[in-house]
Amino acid sequence: MTDDLLIWLLAGGVPLVAAGAMSVLVSRRRRRPAPSVASEESDAPGSPSSDVAVAERTAAEAAAPPAFEVPAPTAGRATRLRDRLARSGSPLGARLLAVLSRDRLAEDDWDELEETLLLADVGAGPSGELIDALRTQVRVTGTSDPAQVRAMLRGQLLALVDPSLDRSLNTEPGVGEDGSPVPAVVLVVGVNGTGKTTTVGKLARVLVADGRSVVLGAADTFRAAAADQLATWGARVGVATVRADRDGADPAAVAFDAVRQARATDVDVVLVDTAGRLQNKAGLMDELGKITRVLTRTAPLSEVLLVLDATTGQNGLSQARVFTQVAGVTGIVLTKLDGTAKGGIVVAVQRELGVPVKLVGLGEGPDDLAPFDPEAFVDGLLGP
Ligand code: GDP
Repeated sequence: MTDDLLIWLLAGGVPLVAAGAMSVLVSRRRRRPAPSVASEESDAPGSPSSDVAVAERTAAEAAAPPAFEVPAPTAGRATRLRDRLARSGSPLGARLLAVLSRDRLAEDDWDELEETLLLADVGAGPSGELIDALRTQVRVTGTSDPAQVRAMLRGQLLALVDPSLDRSLNTEPGVGEDGSPVPAVVLVVGVNGTGKTTTVGKLARVLVADGRSVVLGAADTFRAAAADQLATWGARVGVATVRADRDGADPAAVAFDAVRQARATDVDVVLVDTAGRLQNKAGLMDELGKITRVLTRTAPLSEVLLVLDATTGQNGLSQARVFTQVAGVTGIVLTKLDGTAKGGIVVAVQRELGVPVKLVGLGEGPDDLAPFDPEAFVDGLLGP
């Protein structure tokens, strides 16, 4: 772009880069030591000591480390998934085990088990499969030993969650045809309110904790608050946010600028937050289609993550279907798993959409995002 304009807004230590219609808010704030009362007094204009005080303060500011938060390490987050679910009482596992520990299982008991699975949003097909497989196992082994029954249930639940699915998150930067580094580009889609922006913020922290450099793209240009929210997440860990300079700007242009900015500064990963207005499928298709087309012109899409609210059950699933049709989703982020007893949605989502759950949101805290680990999940459901 020829009309690029570089403005350094030194006030407050926040450099602002305006590139054509877009602006890049680089939130690298320096820590300002709180002035003591004494230095305030000696700062009076004309005071001979004021220059020295200012010079000392400037030196102190220069030496002060940036006030960025240090995100929690990512190792061990799968264990947190298990512990959170187990601590929440995980009614699904507890209820199943309560029925399975009965002496002799009658038809009513099996019906109750199936109902429990359905109520936990596992979905009709997978619930039926689990019951059939478990019935056969119980009949063949003839066991009612609680430990054995628990082990069989664990095995069946794990099979439903499918540990064989590839849940790795592709955030490896690549190399362009000219040999220059190309950032990994992660597009985040989903209905508003599901936790998209929060997830992008949490994911940025995960990447920073893993030593990656990140740029955020605020492609939800219809809500200035969404861009502000994203910039705040980024600023906390020293990550820049590319955003539109006016409401309603072209989201694809913002996404494009974010990738361009990342390429120009050798950044590893670009996370693009999008709008999720679902009133009109054709409009959504146009918008996401254009973002995808424009992005792939500069760098291939590494991941398209669909954010889904675990508390919305079947309703959320039908909305999710629209996104998988239009956006080429490669992974699901299931948020608010801390707020539901219906962990079974994991199974239903994967079955319905044919896409693996890769990450789960476990709370509103900045580091409450964990990789989805099938074993930790099932162990969490079954409890201690
Ligand atoms: P967006 O409109 O999809 O971008 O949604 P937001 O990121 O603004 O999130 C909507 C609300 O969900 C906020 O209050 C978040 O704090 C909350 N939220 C997001 N993820 C989680 C989660 O994993 N657990 C819980 N309990 N709340 C979450």
